Amino acid sequence: KFIVFEGIDGAGKTTQMDLLARLLRERGMQVLCTREPGGTGIGARLREILLDPACRNLDHRTEAFLYAADRAQHVHEKILPALHRGETVLCDRYCYSTLAYQGWGRGMDMEFIAGLNELASGGLAPDMVVLLDIEVEGGLARVLGRHLPDRLEGEKLAFFRQVRRGYLEQAAKQPELFRVVRADVSVQEVHRRVLAAVAEVLGL
Ligand code: C5P
Ligand code: MG
Repeated sequence: KFIVFEGIDGAGKTTQMDLLARLLRERGMQVLCTREPGGTGIGARLREILLDPACRNLDHRTEAFLYAADRAQHVHEKILPALHRGETVLCDRYCYSTLAYQGWGRGMDMEFIAGLNELASGGLAPDMVVLLDIEVEGGLARVLGRHLPDRLEGEKLAFFRQVRRGYLEQAAKQPELFRVVRADVSVQEVHRRVLAAVAEVLGL
């Protein structure tokens, strides 16, 4: 099974994925925990460019292509092989981030982004997307002080509001794929909600 975690910065994706992975491993499951951008060696180098404040003049299309390149390598090198080995794959961000950030956030053409996602993923779709939803102010408050200054540091609240809206609209359009989990409560409570969301698809 392939489960993707999505949400704006500070929603708790990494924390919740790690908690879920630990629980699944305790139950004897083989789990690959991975992320985008930067889930492979090549991807880590692309991530450096994507987050480097010195690259602030990165063109929107260049940015979208770099995320796509990271994803193509990731699917090929990590995700598909793990799925073929029968492992459960938990991934921090996937195609839905590109739609939310580059599509809704930056206002790029949605058809273009959707086509790019299709090429980059080779059409590989997850079994479920867990969308950790939190208000922009709450999410950004959590990442302040934790993040190294990156290329998104100067983005306005309005940008992240658009990104959040983009996620919620994707979830509304694909209710069979998405589970929206309100993430403005304690880590343990969010964990309980995530477990409830994935229980059926993972056979827990
Ligand atoms: O989730 P993570 O912290 O690894 O993401 C790194 C940065 O890249 C974040 O600031 C995130 O908002 C940004 N990002 C983006 N477009 C994407 C995916 C991530 O701007 N498609
Ligand atoms: Mg994270």
